[in-house]
Amino acid sequence: MKYVISRTFKFEAAHRLWKDYTGKCINNHGHSWLIKVHLEGESLDEKDMLIDFQELKVLKAWIDENLDHASLLWENDPMCQYIKASGQRIYVTKKNPTSEHIAEIVLSEAIRLFENTRIKVQCVEVNETCTTGAKIIP
Ligand SMILES: [Zn+2]
Repeated sequence: MKYVISRTFKFEAAHRLWKDYTGKCINNHGHSWLIKVHLEGESLDEKDMLIDFQELKVLKAWIDENLDHASLLWENDPMCQYIKASGQRIYVTKKNPTSEHIAEIVLSEAIRLFENTRIKVQCVEVNETCTTGAKIIP
């Protein structure tokens, strides 16, 4: 038997897909992003919780500091220079800032923040619109 808990986080950010991409998402545009992190484990703590939902707020703090109201841009996107020079918020990515890659980035943060001998990250889901999203499973 396994317990699975989740928490959803929301942030606003712009991105564009500059690397090897020719569709309409090559244009800079914004989304209200939703991130859902699922944690799993086989045993509960002394409070009979996998983890207190309040403890998941540290990931919200990381999202707010790094992704919220930022431009999420691939490191070789020429727009990086303009955003940096104009003093706007930017989060530079190693790959195209797709839902898949944002999920990958948040997964590594969730693992760093929450994993221990009792708790594992089961998956991270990222939705950039109400109809499209990606999930990554470690
Ligand atoms: Zn988009």
